[in-house]
Amino acid sequence: MADVEDNTDISIVLIVDDRGANRHDLGRILSGAGYKTNEAGSWDEGRQAVLQQPDIIILDAELPDGNGYEICKRLKADPATETIPLLMIAASFANGPHKAYEPESEADGYLTTPVDPWELIAAVRSLLRARDAEDKLRKSQEMFIALADSIPALVWMVNMDQQYYYFNRAWLSFTGQSMDNGAPQVNIHPEDRDRHAQVFSSAFQRRQSFEINHRLRRYDGEYRWVLDRGEPHYDLAGAFAGFTGAAIEIHDKVIGEKRLAQSEERFNLAVRGMNDGLWDYNLESGRMYMSPRYKEMLGFADHEIGDDPEEIISRLHPDDKEATLQHVRDYLERRIPSYRIEYRLRHRDGHYVWVLCRGLVVRDGAGRAVRLVGGHTDITDRKQMQLEMIQARDRAEIANRAKTEFLANMSHEIRTPMNVIIGLSGILARTELTPKQREFISTLQSSADSLLLLINDMLDIAKIEDNMMALESVPFSPVEMVNSIAAMLSHNAAEKGLQLTTDYEGIAPLYLGDPLRLQQIITNLVNNALKFTPAGSIRVRLSASPSDRPDTETVLIQVTDTGIGIPNDKIDHIFEKFTQVDSSITRKYGGSGLGLTIVKTLVERMGGTITVDSLLEQGSTFAVSVPLKKAAAASDTLEIAAVKAERISARRGRILLVEDYKPNVLIVTTLLDGYGYDFDVAQSGREAIDRYRQQHYDAIIMDVQMQDMDGYEATRVIREHDTQQGKKHVPIIAMTALALAGDREKCLAAGMNDYISKPFKPDDLQARLEALVN
Ligand code: ADP
Repeated sequence: MADVEDNTDISIVLIVDDRGANRHDLGRILSGAGYKTNEAGSWDEGRQAVLQQPDIIILDAELPDGNGYEICKRLKADPATETIPLLMIAASFANGPHKAYEPESEADGYLTTPVDPWELIAAVRSLLRARDAEDKLRKSQEMFIALADSIPALVWMVNMDQQYYYFNRAWLSFTGQSMDNGAPQVNIHPEDRDRHAQVFSSAFQRRQSFEINHRLRRYDGEYRWVLDRGEPHYDLAGAFAGFTGAAIEIHDKVIGEKRLAQSEERFNLAVRGMNDGLWDYNLESGRMYMSPRYKEMLGFADHEIGDDPEEIISRLHPDDKEATLQHVRDYLERRIPSYRIEYRLRHRDGHYVWVLCRGLVVRDGAGRAVRLVGGHTDITDRKQMQLEMIQARDRAEIANRAKTEFLANMSHEIRTPMNVIIGLSGILARTELTPKQREFISTLQSSADSLLLLINDMLDIAKIEDNMMALESVPFSPVEMVNSIAAMLSHNAAEKGLQLTTDYEGIAPLYLGDPLRLQQIITNLVNNALKFTPAGSIRVRLSASPSDRPDTETVLIQVTDTGIGIPNDKIDHIFEKFTQVDSSITRKYGGSGLGLTIVKTLVERMGGTITVDSLLEQGSTFAVSVPLKKAAAASDTLEIAAVKAERISARRGRILLVEDYKPNVLIVTTLLDGYGYDFDVAQSGREAIDRYRQQHYDAIIMDVQMQDMDGYEATRVIREHDTQQGKKHVPIIAMTALALAGDREKCLAAGMNDYISKPFKPDDLQARLEALVN
């Protein structure tokens, strides 16, 4: 009875029997045991009573209005009544008189009349207990399902035979399957299948929980990474009953991690590949990570030095330290846009390693710099190469300077004795000679002339190559220049029976330019014309036309001859260094092949052009066109130029020759004598000053290089003396064997009036003297 009282409700027993006595007996026993009874005398009544859901039914096997077995079948088939326990009661059953049961029947128990009260109560109680247990089970199943369906994990269960028998809603919807069409398929990615099976069965054998990552096929066919955890589960009796598991999707995480790992691997490979050291300076903690390669560059293994930034700062080259730290500050404080600097770090061995350091700042939300991350590239080799290149360049420059100096010295050394040869042969030629001697002298003179030309050309080429050819810009008269060239060369022309003519058109009286270089150009062209013209004439034509620049005219100089001409295929090459039309010409006419190279370079330096027009055996025309600025009408030089014209027929005067080289003294004095001048000789600068103080001179010819006091200094003292005495400045002509750019400027700057370089042609000295002496 106590058991019954456990129920909150008193259980109701429905008794369906047509015999009143039976009903009465049963009812009495059951009420006595604490049950409530409900009685029905027929199935008709019984059917109504069943609708009230009794807790248990006692059914007579043979009712007048129905067969108990049939009724039982129907009740068990009806979901509304299937769970109600049913006891079949009969006087006897087919298989035997007592307690046997009808095999076809679905009754839960059988009783035979007359009923044993204890048997009845025991049967009812056990049926009610069984029903309660079933109820509980069903409820807990319902709860489990509700719970399992409510969680987002993919829940599954397998039985002892490793057969899946349950999947929650999340699992089904993830895989796109249902429980309706047979057992769902667990589709694990082919690549993960073996591993999964292994883990699963080993966990099964050991009854141990497991955890595995694998890919599970989703409803759309895509395999997604899941983390699957399985736990063994046990039945109420504690016996192993299979595994329960739950999987969660971790696809994005796995892919993210894989990507991260990949990109990290790529990064590591790249870093290793590029051989750079890495550093990461945490500005907040003041710590700096340095990669093993970084330390290796300085000769340390990873563990040998720490990650202290001071370590690096202390290794900075003293000359680079301040600039480097300033660079960091400037970058962090946004004064410069990028962090990139080269500096030296002291290697463990004590030598310095050049590094190129590049970095990038990381700022927090407030714009504060929190990290500086970057790399170190070892650029020692590159720096070394740079250094070697600079050294090589310096060496080349020194060598070049040495070459130029050598040339200057050589030219001095050659020109000085050449001057003597030319001078003395000139003087000798004026003395009385036998025809044979005269021939010797003339050969000597022409050899000396060509040697002199060659030396001048070589010197010019050296100057051009060293970029030392400076051009002057002084006023001069082209007409006058061409006239004097023609006068100078007319003798040569006449000797060959050639006519040398000049004509002018539209030429202004004065232009600004470099008269010496222009003279060199024209002389060269006329000399070539003379050289390559066996018969006929040479014409020098000078003309000018306006140019697009103000005050500037294009001056055209054309030298036309009736000579041998130049073959078409050679015409483009004649301006190249050492080029001649053919070697037979060299043998016949001489020459070095440098002339036109110099001419072309000079013309181009002046901003002009040179062209040639030639017909074989008819003649050639060389045309030089240069832009020249017209000079202002009134200037000192203009006056000098104007006066010059008057003085062509100068009268004699007294000349002081200052020269310490005996052979030159002999030549110049002989020439002066020949020109009709009186002269004195001073053998040093000091002697010159002394003599000048005592005696009036109409001009001084001053050697520049002298032992005791050089020509510049002597000139300065003489000019001082003139000024003190209120005297008109005496004309001084410098004479020098150095013929490099700047000599002339230096002489003029020292207060001299003119300049003549040794060796000179006798006529040249005469012309210059006549121009200056009253
Ligand atoms: P070179 O010292 O040999 O004369 P240039 O540079 O002055 O050297 O001239 C180069 C070559 O051009 C000459 O050797 C010659 O063959 C040719 N050439 C120059 N001027 C003339 C000319 N007026 N008539 C014919 N050939 C000429």
